[in-house]
Amino acid sequence: MDTLGQIERDSTSKAAELLFNSKHAITLTGAGISTESGIPDFRGDNGIWKKYPIETFGAMESFLKDPSKFWKMAEEIAPTLFSAEPNQGHYALAALEKMRIIKAIITQNVDGLHQKAGAVIVYEIHGNINRFTCLGCRASYKKQQVLDKLKSEKKNPPSCDYCGAPLKPSVVLFGENLPNFEKYMSIDLAKKSDVMLIAGSSLTVSPVCDLPLYTLNENGKLIIVNDEPTYLDERAEVVINNKTGIILPLIVEEIKKIRVEHET
Ligand SMILES: [Zn+2]
Repeated sequence: MDTLGQIERDSTSKAAELLFNSKHAITLTGAGISTESGIPDFRGDNGIWKKYPIETFGAMESFLKDPSKFWKMAEEIAPTLFSAEPNQGHYALAALEKMRIIKAIITQNVDGLHQKAGAVIVYEIHGNINRFTCLGCRASYKKQQVLDKLKSEKKNPPSCDYCGAPLKPSVVLFGENLPNFEKYMSIDLAKKSDVMLIAGSSLTVSPVCDLPLYTLNENGKLIIVNDEPTYLDERAEVVINNKTGIILPLIVEEIKKIRVEHET
């Protein structure tokens, strides 16, 4: 804990206390938790949208016009995305789920690293890179099937075996609506949660940035762990401006200590 100041230590303890005493805590995560796994924030200074403008390469409208542009970009980012491993932040959240502190993880990330770290109840509100759907007949494909297709058929965009239409990853593209199931579940969870732990999200992407408001409106409390400020910092119970990979494991340790104190 030596690298932390006293204020951060106090905040970490307070966050642990809040989570320990919660009845229905949930987590909302964003790009910040995966940057420590080597996945650059798509919207950040070194993000993919700087090199490939989102309107041309990441928007639904342009995908329908010419899916090969998206797939060209995907070819470049896929090795990083597919080879990324979870970091201490992901493992800490999986541990909190196992300890029955966290009831669910809502994530804006499409990298699947929460599940890779062992978390089970994960709502991927922006989709996932591990599934693909045909734009024509809606047949679904797994990641490995698509990788095999790309290798053997060398076609851009990869197309459906049944109808020949292009395949699209199950990620929510710019201009596309959120998947209904994930959207309704997330809003319901946010309303029910007495504590929402926001980890690695700067709360700038709509409509996900509104989810904490449902929690606040029901008198729930917010804990924000993010290395930059958010628009809800002033309304949060605890704000820690540091890396999730550093803070989340400390919160887990604190909760374990509190548990021991309560048992003895
Ligand atoms: Zn098809």
